[in-house]
Amino acid sequence: MTIIRGATTIKNDCKEEISVAVKELLDEVFSANGLRKEEVKGFLFSLTTDIHSYHPAKAARECGYDFAPLFAAIEPEIQGGLPLCIRLMLFTETDKAVRHVYQKGAKVLRKDISEILNIALDGPAGSGKSTIAKIIAKDYNILYLDTGAMYRACGLKALRQGISPKDGKAVEAMLPSLNLKVEYRDGKQRTILDGEDVSSTIRENAVSMAASDISAHACVREKMVEMQREIARGMSCVLDGRDIGSVVLPDAKYKFFITADSRVRAQRRFEELSARGEKVDFEKLHAEIVARDKQDSEREFAPLICAKDAVVVDTSSLSVEEVVAKIKRRIQAEI
Ligand code: C5P
Repeated sequence: MTIIRGATTIKNDCKEEISVAVKELLDEVFSANGLRKEEVKGFLFSLTTDIHSYHPAKAARECGYDFAPLFAAIEPEIQGGLPLCIRLMLFTETDKAVRHVYQKGAKVLRKDISEILNIALDGPAGSGKSTIAKIIAKDYNILYLDTGAMYRACGLKALRQGISPKDGKAVEAMLPSLNLKVEYRDGKQRTILDGEDVSSTIRENAVSMAASDISAHACVREKMVEMQREIARGMSCVLDGRDIGSVVLPDAKYKFFITADSRVRAQRRFEELSARGEKVDFEKLHAEIVARDKQDSEREFAPLICAKDAVVVDTSSLSVEEVVAKIKRRIQAEI
């Protein structure tokens, strides 16, 4: 017995969409595998708990797939799972190599058989992009690359060497000795500077402005962008930063510009830093965020801009879950 797997998604829980999706999925499974009716021993569908309007087994029967037993069951809810998803296991006696079929948004379930998925999330400091990027990467089981961490590590190196991150000449002279690595341990990005794991040090507020200052130099950007492209070329990932959609991966299929009112962003950073025990003054933090926005947007090289084909998501009055759902809906609609 051989099993062919397949999955698809719908946009709305309604009978028409379920019928069309089931037919398209079965048609593709049959044509991709050159299946004949008599080779098929049974169909098992499963559907996510948010689908109520129609029974996929019924939909299959109605479009002519009634020559083998059909069964459908509801899957238990999995946190972060794909919404509105119908999955299929088809039991067959073919001994040919099989082709599994993942359509529409369900392609993200199979990194091994789908093309490399690069998702670019750009936006100003505190817009929530890293929180969102981490969730999306986890839900789709792909890598999250925090590019800000790389600029932060450069800024930290300059601070440690007593170099002003604004001093282009000194920064350029420092770069050949910059030993920066991005590693993944237990699915989490670790930023390694000169052999030391600086993942938490680079989050200190003092490093934020140094990162913004140092990231304005073309020599720094060239080096970082090359590393980022190299990582994204090899695997599906979500990247967040300022210039991902515009410079690093201008061809990325999925681009989002995440933004929020500056006071909302300052409040978020305030809470984040306070939770880590850093003492910060809200107004000072707000002023720093506004200054970083200005510096990041006005710099000559790769300024913070919204790529013209990016989808703008204003998170000021949205919860994290709402933003994630919005972005995932958009990605899945296009896959
Ligand atoms: O996102 P995060 O606040 O960690 O980034 C720190 C700084 O690094 C930003 O203020 C920005 O100036 C710079 N940066 C950048 N390009 C990126 C990511 C971050 O210039 N792709």
